Amino acid sequence: MQRLVFLGPPGAGKGTQAAALAQVLGIKHLSTGEILRSHVAAGTPLGREAEGFMTAGQLVPDRLVLAMLEAELRAPAASAGFLLDGFPRTLAQAEALDGLAPLDRVIFFDIGEGTLLERLTQRRHCPQCGLVYNLVTKPPATPGRCDQDGTPLVQRSDDREDAVRTRLRVYQEQTAPLLEFYTRQGRLRRLDANGPVEVVATRLRAALG
Ligand code: ADP
Ligand code: AMP
Repeated sequence: MQRLVFLGPPGAGKGTQAAALAQVLGIKHLSTGEILRSHVAAGTPLGREAEGFMTAGQLVPDRLVLAMLEAELRAPAASAGFLLDGFPRTLAQAEALDGLAPLDRVIFFDIGEGTLLERLTQRRHCPQCGLVYNLVTKPPATPGRCDQDGTPLVQRSDDREDAVRTRLRVYQEQTAPLLEFYTRQGRLRRLDANGPVEVVATRLRAALG
Protein backbone atom coordinates (compact mmCIF):
# COMPACT_ATOMS: atom_id res chain seq x y z
CA MET A 1 0.00 0.00 0.00
CA GLN A 2 1.53 3.31 -1.04
CA ARG A 3 0.06 6.76 -0.49
CA LEU A 4 2.00 9.33 -2.45
CA VAL A 5 1.69 13.02 -3.28
CA PHE A 6 3.33 14.79 -6.23
CA LEU A 7 3.89 18.45 -5.46
CA GLY A 8 5.27 21.07 -7.81
CA PRO A 9 4.43 23.91 -10.16
CA PRO A 10 2.15 23.48 -13.18
CA GLY A 11 4.11 22.01 -16.09
CA ALA A 12 6.74 20.31 -13.89
CA GLY A 13 5.83 16.90 -15.37
CA LYS A 14 3.75 15.53 -12.47
CA GLY A 15 0.95 14.14 -14.64
CA THR A 16 3.37 12.55 -17.13
CA GLN A 17 5.30 10.74 -14.39
CA ALA A 18 2.21 9.94 -12.31
CA ALA A 19 0.39 8.14 -15.13
CA ALA A 20 3.38 5.83 -15.71
CA LEU A 21 4.26 5.25 -12.06
CA ALA A 22 0.70 4.55 -10.89
CA GLN A 23 0.44 1.83 -13.53
CA VAL A 24 3.71 0.22 -12.43
CA LEU A 25 2.78 0.36 -8.73
CA GLY A 26 -0.84 -0.68 -9.30
CA ILE A 27 -2.20 2.30 -7.39
CA LYS A 28 -4.86 4.86 -8.32
CA HIS A 29 -3.67 8.03 -10.06
CA LEU A 30 -5.84 10.86 -8.75
CA SER A 31 -5.35 14.12 -10.65
CA THR A 32 -7.75 16.68 -9.18
CA GLY A 33 -7.31 18.82 -12.32
CA GLU A 34 -8.38 15.91 -14.53
CA ILE A 35 -11.32 15.01 -12.31
CA LEU A 36 -12.46 18.64 -12.31
CA ARG A 37 -12.15 18.84 -16.11
CA SER A 38 -14.35 15.76 -16.45
CA HIS A 39 -16.97 17.47 -14.25
CA VAL A 40 -16.78 20.56 -16.48
CA ALA A 41 -17.15 18.43 -19.61
CA ALA A 42 -20.14 16.57 -18.12
CA GLY A 43 -21.78 19.83 -16.97
CA THR A 44 -22.26 18.65 -13.37
CA PRO A 45 -23.10 21.25 -10.66
CA LEU A 46 -19.47 21.02 -9.45
CA GLY A 47 -18.21 21.49 -13.02
CA ARG A 48 -20.38 24.57 -13.50
CA GLU A 49 -19.07 26.11 -10.27
CA ALA A 50 -15.44 25.25 -10.98
CA GLU A 51 -15.15 26.21 -14.65
CA GLY A 52 -14.66 29.98 -14.28
CA PHE A 53 -11.88 29.58 -11.70
CA MET A 54 -10.09 27.01 -13.86
CA THR A 55 -10.20 28.98 -17.11
CA ALA A 56 -8.84 32.03 -15.28
CA GLY A 57 -5.98 29.97 -13.79
CA GLN A 58 -7.24 30.42 -10.23
CA LEU A 59 -7.72 27.65 -7.68
CA VAL A 60 -11.16 26.12 -7.27
CA PRO A 61 -12.41 26.86 -3.69
CA ASP A 62 -11.18 24.41 -1.03
CA ARG A 63 -14.67 23.27 0.07
CA LEU A 64 -15.49 22.06 -3.48
CA VAL A 65 -12.17 20.30 -4.09
CA LEU A 66 -12.17 18.70 -0.63
CA ALA A 67 -15.66 17.26 -0.97
CA MET A 68 -14.69 15.85 -4.38
CA LEU A 69 -11.42 14.36 -3.15
CA GLU A 70 -12.96 12.79 -0.07
CA ALA A 71 -15.37 10.86 -2.27
CA GLU A 72 -12.51 9.73 -4.54
CA LEU A 73 -10.41 8.50 -1.60
CA ARG A 74 -13.34 6.52 -0.22
CA ALA A 75 -13.95 4.75 -3.54
CA PRO A 76 -12.77 1.11 -3.78
CA ALA A 77 -10.35 2.07 -6.59
CA ALA A 78 -8.17 3.94 -4.08
CA SER A 79 -8.15 1.19 -1.44
CA ALA A 80 -4.88 -0.35 -2.68
CA GLY A 81 -3.07 3.00 -2.52
CA PHE A 82 -3.09 6.27 -4.43
CA LEU A 83 -0.92 8.87 -6.07
CA LEU A 84 -2.27 12.40 -5.67
CA ASP A 85 -1.26 14.74 -8.50
CA GLY A 86 -2.23 18.39 -8.11
CA PHE A 87 -3.58 17.99 -4.57
CA PRO A 88 -3.09 19.46 -1.99
CA ARG A 89 -2.56 22.99 -3.32
CA THR A 90 -3.31 25.04 -0.19
CA LEU A 91 -2.41 24.67 3.48
CA ALA A 92 -6.09 24.10 4.29
CA GLN A 93 -6.16 21.20 1.82
CA ALA A 94 -2.94 19.71 3.26
CA GLU A 95 -4.31 19.90 6.79
CA ALA A 96 -7.59 18.31 5.73
CA LEU A 97 -5.72 15.52 3.91
CA ASP A 98 -3.77 14.75 7.09
CA GLY A 99 -7.09 13.93 8.73
CA LEU A 100 -8.23 11.75 5.82
CA ALA A 101 -5.26 9.50 5.05
CA PRO A 102 -1.73 9.02 6.34
CA LEU A 103 0.81 9.80 3.59
CA ASP A 104 3.97 7.82 2.93
CA ARG A 105 5.87 10.32 0.84
CA VAL A 106 5.59 13.70 -0.83
CA ILE A 107 7.72 14.18 -3.94
CA PHE A 108 8.57 17.78 -4.83
CA PHE A 109 9.16 18.28 -8.57
CA ASP A 110 11.90 20.92 -8.51
CA ILE A 111 12.34 22.74 -11.82
CA GLY A 112 13.47 26.16 -13.09
CA GLU A 113 10.53 28.50 -13.73
CA GLY A 114 11.85 29.39 -17.22
CA THR A 115 11.04 25.88 -18.52
CA LEU A 116 7.42 25.91 -17.34
CA LEU A 117 5.91 28.56 -19.60
CA GLU A 118 7.24 26.82 -22.71
CA ARG A 119 6.19 23.34 -21.57
CA LEU A 120 2.65 24.50 -20.79
CA THR A 121 1.99 26.62 -23.86
CA GLN A 122 3.22 23.73 -26.06
CA ARG A 123 1.10 21.11 -24.23
CA ARG A 124 -1.73 19.42 -26.14
CA HIS A 125 -3.90 16.44 -25.22
CA CYS A 126 -6.28 13.97 -26.74
CA PRO A 127 -9.86 14.70 -25.61
CA GLN A 128 -10.74 11.06 -26.32
CA CYS A 129 -8.11 9.05 -24.39
CA GLY A 130 -6.42 11.78 -22.34
CA LEU A 131 -2.87 11.18 -23.62
CA VAL A 132 -0.70 14.27 -23.09
CA TYR A 133 1.67 15.54 -25.79
CA ASN A 134 4.06 18.42 -26.20
CA LEU A 135 4.60 20.06 -29.59
CA VAL A 136 8.33 20.41 -28.83
CA THR A 137 9.31 17.55 -26.49
CA LYS A 138 6.68 14.88 -27.28
CA PRO A 139 5.04 15.60 -30.64
CA PRO A 140 2.48 13.17 -32.09
CA ALA A 141 3.59 11.07 -35.09
CA THR A 142 0.96 12.74 -37.29
CA PRO A 143 0.80 16.49 -36.63
CA GLY A 144 -2.31 17.45 -34.64
CA ARG A 145 -3.61 13.88 -34.18
CA CYS A 146 -3.46 11.40 -31.29
CA ASP A 147 -1.08 8.46 -31.92
CA GLN A 148 -3.49 6.09 -30.19
CA ASP A 149 -6.85 6.91 -31.78
CA GLY A 150 -6.31 9.64 -34.42
CA THR A 151 -8.52 12.16 -32.57
CA PRO A 152 -7.60 15.84 -33.21
CA LEU A 153 -5.51 17.14 -30.30
CA VAL A 154 -6.69 20.14 -28.29
CA GLN A 155 -5.14 22.78 -26.05
CA ARG A 156 -6.44 23.31 -22.50
CA SER A 157 -8.08 26.72 -22.10
CA ASP A 158 -5.80 27.41 -19.11
CA ASP A 159 -2.62 26.65 -21.09
CA ARG A 160 -2.79 29.99 -22.90
CA GLU A 161 -0.09 32.40 -21.86
CA ASP A 162 -2.12 34.78 -19.65
CA ALA A 163 -3.73 31.93 -17.65
CA VAL A 164 -0.36 30.18 -17.35
CA ARG A 165 1.18 33.32 -15.83
CA THR A 166 -1.67 33.49 -13.31
CA ARG A 167 -1.24 29.79 -12.44
CA LEU A 168 2.49 30.23 -11.83
CA ARG A 169 1.79 33.18 -9.51
CA VAL A 170 -0.97 31.26 -7.68
CA TYR A 171 1.45 28.35 -7.22
CA GLN A 172 4.06 30.60 -5.60
CA GLU A 173 1.52 32.29 -3.34
CA GLN A 174 -0.68 29.38 -2.26
CA THR A 175 1.08 26.07 -2.94
CA ALA A 176 4.81 26.71 -2.41
CA PRO A 177 4.25 27.11 1.39
CA LEU A 178 3.41 23.38 1.48
CA LEU A 179 7.10 22.59 0.96
CA GLU A 180 7.82 23.80 4.47
CA PHE A 181 4.72 22.04 5.84
CA TYR A 182 5.86 18.64 4.52
CA THR A 183 9.55 19.25 5.30
CA ARG A 184 8.56 19.78 8.93
CA GLN A 185 6.65 16.47 8.83
CA GLY A 186 9.78 14.75 7.43
CA ARG A 187 7.86 13.46 4.39
CA LEU A 188 9.30 15.64 1.59
CA ARG A 189 11.72 14.30 -1.03
CA ARG A 190 13.12 16.69 -3.64
CA LEU A 191 13.21 15.45 -7.24
CA ASP A 192 15.24 17.20 -9.94
CA ALA A 193 12.50 17.51 -12.59
CA ASN A 194 14.74 19.01 -15.29
CA GLY A 195 15.74 16.86 -18.26
CA PRO A 196 14.03 14.27 -20.46
CA VAL A 197 11.01 12.25 -19.26
CA GLU A 198 12.97 8.96 -18.97
CA VAL A 199 15.77 10.60 -16.96
CA VAL A 200 13.26 12.10 -14.51
CA ALA A 201 11.48 8.70 -14.29
CA THR A 202 14.77 7.02 -13.29
CA ARG A 203 15.43 9.66 -10.63
CA LEU A 204 11.87 9.24 -9.37
CA ARG A 205 12.26 5.50 -8.88
CA ALA A 206 15.48 6.16 -6.96
CA ALA A 207 13.75 8.78 -4.78
CA LEU A 208 11.04 6.27 -3.90
CA GLY A 209 13.59 3.61 -3.04
P1 ADP B 1 2.01 18.83 -14.82
O1 ADP B 1 1.12 17.63 -14.64
O2 ADP B 1 3.05 18.95 -13.74
O3 ADP B 1 1.27 20.12 -15.03
P2 ADP B 1 2.63 17.57 -17.40
O4 ADP B 1 3.07 16.19 -17.01
O5 ADP B 1 1.28 17.72 -18.02
O6 ADP B 1 2.84 18.59 -16.15
O7 ADP B 1 3.73 18.15 -18.41
C1 ADP B 1 3.61 19.45 -18.97
C2 ADP B 1 4.05 19.42 -20.43
O8 ADP B 1 5.46 19.15 -20.48
C3 ADP B 1 3.39 18.35 -21.28
O9 ADP B 1 3.24 18.86 -22.59
C4 ADP B 1 4.38 17.17 -21.24
O10 ADP B 1 4.31 16.39 -22.43
C5 ADP B 1 5.72 17.90 -21.16
N1 ADP B 1 6.71 17.20 -20.32
C6 ADP B 1 6.49 16.49 -19.19
N2 ADP B 1 7.66 16.04 -18.67
C7 ADP B 1 8.63 16.50 -19.50
C8 ADP B 1 10.08 16.38 -19.50
N3 ADP B 1 10.74 15.72 -18.54
N4 ADP B 1 10.75 17.00 -20.51
C9 ADP B 1 10.10 17.68 -21.46
N5 ADP B 1 8.76 17.82 -21.54
C10 ADP B 1 8.04 17.24 -20.56
P1 AMP C 1 -4.00 20.83 -13.15
O1 AMP C 1 -4.60 19.87 -14.13
O2 AMP C 1 -3.40 20.17 -11.95
O3 AMP C 1 -3.04 21.78 -13.84
O4 AMP C 1 -5.21 21.71 -12.58
C1 AMP C 1 -5.99 22.52 -13.46
C2 AMP C 1 -6.83 23.48 -12.66
O5 AMP C 1 -7.79 22.76 -11.86
C3 AMP C 1 -6.10 24.38 -11.65
O6 AMP C 1 -5.50 25.53 -12.25
C4 AMP C 1 -7.24 24.73 -10.69
O7 AMP C 1 -8.11 25.69 -11.25
C5 AMP C 1 -8.01 23.41 -10.62
N1 AMP C 1 -7.48 22.54 -9.54
C6 AMP C 1 -6.88 21.33 -9.68
N2 AMP C 1 -6.53 20.83 -8.50
C7 AMP C 1 -6.90 21.74 -7.57
C8 AMP C 1 -6.78 21.81 -6.15
N3 AMP C 1 -6.20 20.84 -5.44
N4 AMP C 1 -7.29 22.91 -5.53
C9 AMP C 1 -7.87 23.89 -6.21
N5 AMP C 1 -7.99 23.91 -7.55
C10 AMP C 1 -7.50 22.84 -8.23
